[in-house]
Amino acid sequence: MTDTDSGPLAALDLARFAPLSMPSRLLLGPGPSPVHPRVSQALAAPTVGHLDPAFLALMDELQCLLRALFRTRNELTFAVSGTGSAGMEACLVNALEPGDRVVIGENGVFGGRMAEIASRLGCDVVRVSVPFGQALDPAAIGAALAAGKTKLLAVVHAETSTGVLQSIPELTRLAREAGALSLVDCVTSLGGVPVEIDEWGVDLAYSGTQKCLSCPPGLAPVTFSPRAVAALRARRSKVSSWYLDATMLLQYWGSERVYHHTAPINMLYALREAALLLCEEGLPRAHARHHLHHRALSAGLQALGLELPVAEALRIPQLNVVRIPHSARPEAELDGEVRGALLREHGIEVGGGLGPMKGRVWRIGLMGHGARRESVERVLGALEHVLQGAGAHITPGRALPAAQAIWQSEER
Ligand SMILES: *Cc1c(COP(=O)(O)O)cnc(C)c1O
Repeated sequence: MTDTDSGPLAALDLARFAPLSMPSRLLLGPGPSPVHPRVSQALAAPTVGHLDPAFLALMDELQCLLRALFRTRNELTFAVSGTGSAGMEACLVNALEPGDRVVIGENGVFGGRMAEIASRLGCDVVRVSVPFGQALDPAAIGAALAAGKTKLLAVVHAETSTGVLQSIPELTRLAREAGALSLVDCVTSLGGVPVEIDEWGVDLAYSGTQKCLSCPPGLAPVTFSPRAVAALRARRSKVSSWYLDATMLLQYWGSERVYHHTAPINMLYALREAALLLCEEGLPRAHARHHLHHRALSAGLQALGLELPVAEALRIPQLNVVRIPHSARPEAELDGEVRGALLREHGIEVGGGLGPMKGRVWRIGLMGHGARRESVERVLGALEHVLQGAGAHITPGRALPAAQAIWQSEER
């Protein structure tokens, strides 16, 4: 290389690079969500080796804490190195073999993602679909399970793409009666609403750190029931992913401590602290907190004149879907302008719509450390300001009082 090189191989002009400095945002989208300060601190603790006795002790603690969050006695409960989608892929790749029949409930983007992964595994994928915004129909799931020998039923508990919360116990009962394993996506639900793995008879479940666990993205807590482990041991073929193979991972997370891949040490510190924070608060209190601020936000949004399209009984408290209001311009144009102004002028991130909802709705998350009164006050104030500026048809002046009325009714 000579001094006259240009392009990627030219000597870097280091003067152009300032030391890292990121803006502080109020993350009220569908994830990532605000990180608790104690979790950020844990992330910055000194890195040790992945077989260091201090780290092995932390792994044991983390497994206990994850069992408490999932409400399970499952021995095989650990964190997959990767985001929520890695947890999804880990469950599917370990539970399924080529040719297996799998029934997947699809009422949003994430059910579709499970179906895509299962089809790449060479499975016979039966999708039971309902329009986005609705819950799955247990009768249709039952009929699909009855139509052929099924290995697995997979459903999403909290569909972040549509804002619909799915009732699980009846579906897992149907799976068990049909002799199938059940898999539940708990990425957005865990920590925000009750998740009862043992009581509901769920065989495999996964979550993600960046939704209601107040932790950055990067890990996927998973849990496998004894039935799921027995099915894993009875496989005719090797798990097709080496990295996500639970038969090998359980030798590292179990007592043998066999090296598989280097654990993401500092992310595991963060998840340990995040899980501990939730256990200290108590799950029922955390769920009540998410529900209260959801009610305050919903009241405020409706007082602004905005519409919440998901039926009240199906709403996910930590993920609020709101229809983009009418203005002189097309909805999709207002969408970008409003979300841009919220971020630039108010430091607040909210989510746009996914899939068929794109350009039609906003998704406002109140997840984990974000489920606080201050978040609701800031987003309602900022939305009112930005929507007024954009000439949208709203009713100013009423949002905050409506939210305050909810908090006050709770204090009494
Ligand atoms: C966010 C999310 C995922 C995917 O998680 P990533 O961390 O983005 O990989 C899967 N399922 C649901 C329901 C989610 O909300």
